[in-house]
Amino acid sequence: MSASAGPQHVAWLSLGSNLECPDQQIRTASRALAAETRIRVLAISSLYRTAPVGGPADQPMFCNAALAVATDLGPYELLAVCQAIEAAQGRVRDVRWGPRTLDIDIIAFDTHASSAARLTLPHPRAAERAFVLVPLAEIAPALTLGGHGRVVDCLAGQDTGDIEPWPAS
Ligand code: ATP
Ligand code: MG
Ligand code: MG
Repeated sequence: MSASAGPQHVAWLSLGSNLECPDQQIRTASRALAAETRIRVLAISSLYRTAPVGGPADQPMFCNAALAVATDLGPYELLAVCQAIEAAQGRVRDVRWGPRTLDIDIIAFDTHASSAARLTLPHPRAAERAFVLVPLAEIAPALTLGGHGRVVDCLAGQDTGDIEPWPAS
């Protein structure tokens, strides 16, 4: 974190990968976020192995994790950092919800609410995604996802049968 940091914010990120050593992709991305001078990683969840949701049939299982970060970046600046890290790790956007080396979504940024297509906050599909909620519940169970309520309460209504700890290598 730079010495002349401006107002501090807290953001919660969801990371996912199902290509090219997914667990390594998540670890590499976590390190890249931690290496950003204006970002401090506050918490990292465990890694989970999750079944794909949406997108083409027969794509590989995902590795998912959640991070909490403190930053003096604004929400769009943080999005740009996340997208740069995705690009550095070879993210290609062709098929919606298709296989990817890395996805970093901003689940929440302080208590900001936005319906902008470029950055919707809280993330519009987080509250219904067990692969987001299970890791997030480890580090931020009481985080409120706008009108959907707390992470733990959103999770209580979800089927988590397709989610397990990432196997030890
Ligand atoms: P989903 O958003 O359903 O998880 P995805 O992560 O695969 O799908 P991407 O291709 O990564 O979708 O992103 C598509 C666009 O979503 C991006 O260009 C980005 O501007 C926009 N976007 C809107 N809200 C957010 C958010 N909260 N976090 C990250 N990207 C967002
Ligand atoms: Mg996503
Ligand atoms: Mg995304």
